[in-house]
Amino acid sequence: MANSYDVIVIGAGPAGYVAAIRCAQLGLNVACIDEFRRKDGEPALGGTCLNVGCIPSKALLDSSEQYHKVNEELAGHGINVKGVSLDVPQMISRKDKVVADLTGGIRQLFKANKIEWLQGHGKLLTERRVEFTPHKGKAQTLQAQNVILATGSKPIDIGAAPVDEERILTSDAALEISEVPKRLGVIGAGVIGLEMGSVWNRLGSKVVLLEAQDEFLAPVDQQVARDAKRQFEKQGLDIRLGCRVTETRKGKTVSVHYEDKDGKQNIQVDKLIVAVGRRPNTEGLSHDDVELLTDERGFVHVNDHCETNIPGVYAVGDVVRGPMLAHKGSEEGMMVAELIAGQPGHVNYETIPWVIYTHPEIAWVGKTEAQLKKAGTPYKSGTFGFAATGRARAMDYPVGMVKILAHAETDRILGVHIGGPQASELITEAVVAMEFSASSEDLARTIHAHPTLSEAVHEAALSVDKRAIHKAN
Ligand code: FAD
Ligand code: AMP
Repeated sequence: MANSYDVIVIGAGPAGYVAAIRCAQLGLNVACIDEFRRKDGEPALGGTCLNVGCIPSKALLDSSEQYHKVNEELAGHGINVKGVSLDVPQMISRKDKVVADLTGGIRQLFKANKIEWLQGHGKLLTERRVEFTPHKGKAQTLQAQNVILATGSKPIDIGAAPVDEERILTSDAALEISEVPKRLGVIGAGVIGLEMGSVWNRLGSKVVLLEAQDEFLAPVDQQVARDAKRQFEKQGLDIRLGCRVTETRKGKTVSVHYEDKDGKQNIQVDKLIVAVGRRPNTEGLSHDDVELLTDERGFVHVNDHCETNIPGVYAVGDVVRGPMLAHKGSEEGMMVAELIAGQPGHVNYETIPWVIYTHPEIAWVGKTEAQLKKAGTPYKSGTFGFAATGRARAMDYPVGMVKILAHAETDRILGVHIGGPQASELITEAVVAMEFSASSEDLARTIHAHPTLSEAVHEAALSVDKRAIHKAN
C-alpha cells in the first residue's frame, strides 16, 4: 500500500465507489476506504445500497411479487398452478447471490481501474491526511491531495422501540427474516416501510404500518398518494396515520403501544420493523482537531459543488443534504471527481427522480402541486389513468395515473408524478424532458410507441392542453 494518493475516498457506497471510479478514469491515483462487513464477516464494496438497501430490497420485492402473481393472478390468465409452496430461506439466498454478484462486480471494476480498496475505518485528520485503521492491524496515516467523504447513513432508532434485530428490527435485519411472521408491525410508512411491508404482506403476513404524520406520503403529490393508498389497502396493508408510538414491550409477542387521535392504542405483532428514516454516518469520521462543519442534524455541510468548509475535502451522498437516494450520491460523486480533475462538474438538483418500488410503483420528479401552490407559481395540470391504455389492460394492471404539471404561461414542465405499473422506468422520460427544459407540448408532440405504458405519459401531456384522445377532457 502506498501512503500518498491524489484522492482518498472514505466510503464505498454508490456515492463513494462511483467517485473513486470516475477519479481513476480521469487519471487520478485513488484509494477507497470502506469498513462494511457482510453477515459472514467478509468485507464487501457497494455500501448500504448494494448490501442492505436498494438491491436486496428490490430482490425481495421481485420474489414476493412472483409469489403473489402465482397465487392471485395467473389463474386469470388461464394458467392454473397447483401445489405452490414458499421457501423463504431460498428467497433470502437468491437475494444474497444477487448482492454478492453485484458487489463482486464493483471489486472487479476497482481492480480494472487500479483503485486501492482499503478495508477498515477511515478518519479525516488535518492537512488532508486520513487515518486508516484496517479490520486487522495497526492504524496508519495516509496523505491525499483531496479527500472525498462518502460515509452514507444508518437507520434512525427511537427510544420507544429499541432495536434488538431479533424481534424489533432495522431494515438491515428485515432483509434477513427467514420465516413469514404472522403479524408484522412497521413504524414509519415512508419509502422503506412501505417496501418492506409490501414484501411480507405479499408473502402472507398481516401487516400494520404506524405512521406519525397525518398525511400519507407527505413528499408525494397527494393525488397520486391517495390513489396509491387505496391500492395498498386493497392489497391488505393496514396503514394507520397520525400514530405516535410510545412504548414497546417484548413477551411472546411484541406489544406496540401508540397514541392516535382516538387515544391510547395497542397492537400485538410477531416482528416489528423500525423504518423512521436514516441519519448521516459522521460519528468518528473526523479527528477532534478537524473543524469539519456539520449542520444541526449531523449532515456534513457542503455547497452546491459538494465542497466542505475545508479546502480539498468534499462530501457526497447520504452524508450531505438532499434526498437520500443512491443515484443522487452517484451524480455527486461524478461531479466531485470531475471538479478535482479540473473539469466542469455539475448536479441538477431540480431533476432528481424519486421512486417507491411498491405495487403500484410511485415515481416523481420536480415539484408537487402543493409546492407550486405554496410558491404561488401559476401552473396547469394534465392527468391520464393507466386504465385507458391498452398495454396496462393487456398486462392486467389498469391502475394508477400520470400527472404532469406545467407552467401556466411558459408551458415548461415543472413536475411529473406517476403512480402505476413500471413508474420507475417511465419517470426517466420526464427527467430527460425536464433536463432539456421541455414544455408539455414538446412531450405531447413526441411520438410514443403503441401499445406501451408510456402512452399514459403522452396522453397526460396532451391533457395539459385539454386534448387527450382517450379520455373526455
Ligand atoms: P452508503 O451506501 O451508506 O455507503 C457508505 C459506506 O461507507 C458504507 O459501506 C459504510 O460502511 C462506509 N463507512 C461509513 N463510515 C465509514 C468510515 N468512517 N470509514 C470507512 N467506511 C465507512 N436508494 C435509491 O436510490 N433507490 C432505492 O431503491 C433504495 N432503496 C433502499 C432500500 C433500503 C432498505 C435502504 C436502507 C436504503 C435504500 N436506498 C435507496 C437509499 C440508498 O441505499 C442510499 O441513498 C445510498 O446507499 C447512499 O449512498 P452513499 O454512498 O452515500 O452511502
Ligand atoms: P422515509 O424518510 O421515506 O424513510 O420515511 C420515514 C417515515 O417514518 C416518514 O413517513 C416519517 O413521517 C415516519 N416517522 C418518523 N418518525 C416516526 C415515529 N416516531 N413514528 C412513526 N412514524 C415516524
